[in-house]
Amino acid sequence: MEPIQALQKYFGYDRFRHQQEAIIQNVLAGRDVIVLMPTGGGKSLCYQLPAMLLDGLTIVISPLIALMKDQVDSLNVNGIPAAFLNSSQSEDEQAAITQKLRNNQIKLLYLAPERLFRSGSTLIGFLKSLPVCLVAIDEAHCISHWGHDFRPEYLMLSGLKKEFPQIPVIALTATADKLTRKDILEKLNLSDPAEFVSSFNRANITYRVIPKKNSINQLLEFLNERKEDSGIIYCLSRNSTGELAADLKAEGYSAAAYHAGMEQAEKAKNQEAFLRDEIKIIVATIAFGMGINKSNVRYVVHADLPKNIEGYYQETGRAGRDGLPSDALLLYSYSDASKLQRFAKVEGNEEQSAIMLKKLDDMVKYAQLKTCRRQYLMQYFDETFPAGCGSCDVCLSEVKKFDGTLIAQKALSAVARLKESFGNTYIIDFLRGSKREKIREEHKQLRTFGVGADIHRADWFRYIRELVAQGYLQVTDDAFPVLKLTNKSDAVLKGLQKVELIASQTMEERRPEAPPFETALLNELKMIRRDIAANENVPAYIVLSDAALVEMATYLPQTLDELRLVSGFGDVKLARYGREFLIPVKSYCVKNGLSSRIHQKRYALKQQLKTKQPTTKLRSSDTRAESFSMYRSGKSVQEIAAARGMVATTIEGHLSYFIQTGEMDVLELVEQEKIPAIKDAVESYGHEKLSPLKEVLGDNYSYGEIRAVISWMNRRA
Ligand code: ADP
Ligand code: ZN
Repeated sequence: MEPIQALQKYFGYDRFRHQQEAIIQNVLAGRDVIVLMPTGGGKSLCYQLPAMLLDGLTIVISPLIALMKDQVDSLNVNGIPAAFLNSSQSEDEQAAITQKLRNNQIKLLYLAPERLFRSGSTLIGFLKSLPVCLVAIDEAHCISHWGHDFRPEYLMLSGLKKEFPQIPVIALTATADKLTRKDILEKLNLSDPAEFVSSFNRANITYRVIPKKNSINQLLEFLNERKEDSGIIYCLSRNSTGELAADLKAEGYSAAAYHAGMEQAEKAKNQEAFLRDEIKIIVATIAFGMGINKSNVRYVVHADLPKNIEGYYQETGRAGRDGLPSDALLLYSYSDASKLQRFAKVEGNEEQSAIMLKKLDDMVKYAQLKTCRRQYLMQYFDETFPAGCGSCDVCLSEVKKFDGTLIAQKALSAVARLKESFGNTYIIDFLRGSKREKIREEHKQLRTFGVGADIHRADWFRYIRELVAQGYLQVTDDAFPVLKLTNKSDAVLKGLQKVELIASQTMEERRPEAPPFETALLNELKMIRRDIAANENVPAYIVLSDAALVEMATYLPQTLDELRLVSGFGDVKLARYGREFLIPVKSYCVKNGLSSRIHQKRYALKQQLKTKQPTTKLRSSDTRAESFSMYRSGKSVQEIAAARGMVATTIEGHLSYFIQTGEMDVLELVEQEKIPAIKDAVESYGHEKLSPLKEVLGDNYSYGEIRAVISWMNRRA
């Protein structure tokens, strides 16, 4: 079987991520391999899939019982025979597993390193009698003093190559730095390993920092929009985890605390409840997280400043392992920074203190950044990365407000002076002191004439629109709309009312569009998943990822064959749960008069396959033509965008090209009435930049329409 077929059959995925395919090829070829991939990148698959293709047993070394259990549950749910041996099991359980190993009924065996190499252990002798074909070392950075979770027992793994000289080893970690990597290679004694280093960028995580003022209110505001989501809130002190969890509970959230000082049983209970979605929010110290594979953590909040970027990145990385959009929020205060500074000083160890302080300083710099946060993070980990990621708060330049009272007064008094009988263009030209003949001579004599010359024309249009939106001005709905004062205007003119305006233009447009899934259906599917998970006694995300549910609620599969195309449905899951999930999808469709949209997924898949091979990569002219031909076949821009996995504005861009060539009529994309206004704006502002045009034209005009008209104005005669 080819790896790609095994990927579909056992895991239900249609393509490899990152460098998975190349890694797997190397493992199958019997080479030692070291893999550096960010959390959620899909490291496990790099040994789990070869384990299914190779003859014999794969041994997986893993540091934590919780981690082993999670992985084994996931594999079993996919019908893959896997087991672990650890101290939590009874003699009988262990004997049963040993028997299965003898009978070659297990493909993957999870072990802690001390289990394997403990002196006097007979396990290693037993394993040598089995057909072992691969050893995987998960969390390989635990072998290094440089890493942040050094585990002395991992040092025992240096004996691995002696005991199993012929068996290939794959070592995996999400810790990127060079020192740790070198350490891993040396200590494991790998022979000429193939190294795979993925980008550590987590594209689906949006990074935000807000100044900490009243943290509980700020948190509540953040959580209010995420009521259905799972998240982790990190605090610095044990006490504050308990307090915050209690506060959140009092506000009606399902939250629990977690820190190293709690009773073992209570910790386990809270963690388990979080994994099973019975508790949505865990409020924890950084003791929580290692070994948490929960894939549907939608946000990670740092309520206090972390000590360094390494820890911060690791912790935020626990969000969005399933690849769906997720959030990282940091509440920053200067007093946190100075508190940590005091802690960072290690008595009698100047060198150590200096390193810790430098790391803290880098963390503070991050919090105060005025440039792209993602770029800073990537550069911190020695990766070059362009600025302008489009999904950090700086890039999204979230609406910044400023005191616009003076501006408002100028605008309102202009409206008053001109006797409330002119439209916004005239008012603005008047404010800017335009030399145009259009402005009447008598108006040029007024004192208000030209008082707003320092403000850009496009900005004036925006401010006026905001003043209208805030009710300080109104627009008549005549054929020639006129600006008038309102009953709120007077207070502003008299200086009794402050007015806030939005400072820089926002880039909200660039925020990735949310997939058009059916929300009600998604909630139903989540309930079904929860019931199945409870029956099988595993966390919900092990039954199916959120991503799989979202796909179902998007593409609305009607048959098992269609469901097979949904990410995460391998052969076994399809047979086990397929029917159960199809029932609500079908009845939802009947109730709402919807039908399957699985063709969109099929189409997207075909595109992905096409773009995957570099030789057949679509040239820009081809990709335009593709959109155009889909449009001609009757699909809407939205449908094409969904099918091609692109955003609508990209498709509109493609189509505009054909307006310019004359193959498409502008009226296909823009209503006739809208054309004169766009044309007007283009003629006064030029067409180099779209955003000022959009500003001037307002919400009724889309980027797509503006671009279409520009193309039409530039069309080849
Ligand atoms: P890591 O160990 O690198 O943090 P995991 O191995 O836990 O990441 O994988 C993260 C998630 O991504 C899991 O839910 C996994 O099933 C999923 N995944 C892995 N590879 C793929 C793939 N090729 N396509 C879709 N999902 C994948
Ligand atoms: Zn950015």
